[in-house]
Amino acid sequence: MDDNKIECRVCFRHCRLAEGETGACRTRKNTDGAIQSINYGMLTSLALDPIEKKPLAMFCPGSMILSAGSFGCNLHCPFCQNHEISYAGEADAEALNSKYISPEELVDTAYRLKSHGNIGLAFTYNEPLMSWEYVRDAARLSHEKGMKNVLVSNGTAELQVLEEILPFMDAMNIDLKAFDTDIYSKILGGDLEQTKSFIDTAVRHVHMEITTLIVPGLNDDDGQIEDAAEWIASLEHGRSIPYHLTRFFPRYHMTDRDATDVRRLFALKAIASKYLDNVYVGNV
Ligand code: SF4
Repeated sequence: MDDNKIECRVCFRHCRLAEGETGACRTRKNTDGAIQSINYGMLTSLALDPIEKKPLAMFCPGSMILSAGSFGCNLHCPFCQNHEISYAGEADAEALNSKYISPEELVDTAYRLKSHGNIGLAFTYNEPLMSWEYVRDAARLSHEKGMKNVLVSNGTAELQVLEEILPFMDAMNIDLKAFDTDIYSKILGGDLEQTKSFIDTAVRHVHMEITTLIVPGLNDDDGQIEDAAEWIASLEHGRSIPYHLTRFFPRYHMTDRDATDVRRLFALKAIASKYLDNVYVGNV
């Protein structure tokens, strides 16, 4: 073992990084003997979106939310629907027109947009928790201004990171990308148990909605969705937790199959609805 390496404990990967080395997420780097976020405040996307687009169906319906994203992600989903930013790193920041926006500037912009129906900030598009310090700093200021904060995440950060941001969060939508340990670890480069722990903890503190992108031939079998819905129903708030089944479109490295058949989405909705009262079909 190389003693000069430092372990990053932001997500389940626990990358061990030598000086100057960047982790699997392309957003955290060993700089001068400490792991630092290299995309803090480096926004690639900023848009005022309807809250339903996050998707959140049962949190402040009809409102708008200023949505901010950077680059990088710790998972490697072959079907990523946002791969231009999720698979990008520091070297791509200029090409992506990435711009530094301080937490204060972001919150000021959000506050000015209240007159356009904005209720606060959503941290979304790439994986926000790889630079959780920015989420914490901006969300704290947003709360001080009386606004709300939303997190859209893959839920694979460590629970210590979740604890840092929970006091400043009001709602979350967490991806449950599959309900199969092997699919998570071998195809997505993720960790199902970490995601379940994240959701199980967060649902006790914030409004929680859960999303599964239904990819034909990967996670669209009856059994996986039934198991996922049954598990969601076992959490705090049980049957009332909103569950979104969204339509896949061929993207990135997964162009070998068609978009999800809409009839299949509704068949899976019927299965999930045996356990849950609020199941939504999206992207149709
Ligand atoms: S946050 Fe990035 S550097 Fe840290 S453990 Fe996860 S993938 Fe590795």
